Amino acid sequence: MTKIRITPTEHSKISEINLENLGFGRVFSDHMFVADYKDGEWQDYRIEPVHNFSVHPANMTFHYGQAIFEGLKGSKNGAGVPILFRPEENIKRMNRSAHRMCMPEFPEDIMLEALKMLIYLDKDWIPTFEGSAMYFRPFMIATDEYLGVMPSNTYKMVIIASPSGAYYAKPVNLFADDFYVRAAIGGTGEAKCAGNYAGSLYPSKLAKAKGFDQILWLDAVYHKYVQEVGTMNIFFLFKGNVLVTPLADGGILKGITRDSIIHIMRDKGYDVQERLLSIDEVISEYEKGNLVEVFGAGTAAVVTNVQSITYRDSVLTFDEAQWTLSKSIKQLINDLRSGKIDDPYDFTLKVEEMAEVL
Ligand SMILES: *Cc1c(COP(=O)(O)O)cnc(C)c1O
Repeated sequence: MTKIRITPTEHSKISEINLENLGFGRVFSDHMFVADYKDGEWQDYRIEPVHNFSVHPANMTFHYGQAIFEGLKGSKNGAGVPILFRPEENIKRMNRSAHRMCMPEFPEDIMLEALKMLIYLDKDWIPTFEGSAMYFRPFMIATDEYLGVMPSNTYKMVIIASPSGAYYAKPVNLFADDFYVRAAIGGTGEAKCAGNYAGSLYPSKLAKAKGFDQILWLDAVYHKYVQEVGTMNIFFLFKGNVLVTPLADGGILKGITRDSIIHIMRDKGYDVQERLLSIDEVISEYEKGNLVEVFGAGTAAVVTNVQSITYRDSVLTFDEAQWTLSKSIKQLINDLRSGKIDDPYDFTLKVEEMAEVL
């Protein structure tokens, strides 16, 4: 028996939307999931028509930033069955983020049930053209009205869903910043918290003003070890089928796309290494001609190719003709995700019927 109460919308907005022409994260489906934490427990699990919240100006999220989020994709296979991609991984990560930010963990089974119900209820909103998806955004915020610095006693957990177009990420020019940092080990870099993004906006703006697309973040102590890019983890393909991605040592966000790629490429026989990788090593391997291809990996774009990396006086440029691995990985993940091919990795979860979730 479900503990989630459903209030279906009486005015679906689906006829107002052109599902062939979507951006990313601007259009929202009919329903959202909401739950409240008070008196020491999560309660009042419900799915309702999407609506605004009314909040007091002293709401603690505004002041001290207890806010975390997730992002995952849902699709529909050829038979119209909704599919979620590795939802259990997002649920676990959400709770790791909650733990770090002193927020209450959310029951894993209820979050999974909520995602299944939402994708089923709003399945007509799932776009089906190549590369498109329903992007789910679970998030949790503090709701106490209080100006003292301490963890809030009350919280809201919400999941909204945004049908999104093929997120075509053009190849990016990266600036390896040797001054600004995203995350220090011991800080909040491994939590998917709102504040990490707020802090990255200004350095990113400076990099954009210099003509770069995004920052390649380096570690906070030595300004030397490669961490990640904006909303993506990063992979370096060296000659000899060696694929290196920075070690998840507490300074990077452990992406689920990163994990999927590690899994798939090990399965394909690549030597996948999670380790410290310095920008000097990247440059010297590039100069020796050993660095073949560099790409970012994250849920939104799946894979984004890197066209160049600039670090101090060095400019590394990559030849599009060599970008074969990233293209095939992107295709493979998109095909798995949308049920176009069999899933030997057990990454996908089909939501066959509402009865299953009720
Ligand atoms: C979400 C995120 C990623 C990518 O994680 P996925 O689970 O693959 O979407 C990478 N870096 C940062 C900073 C992120 O917030």
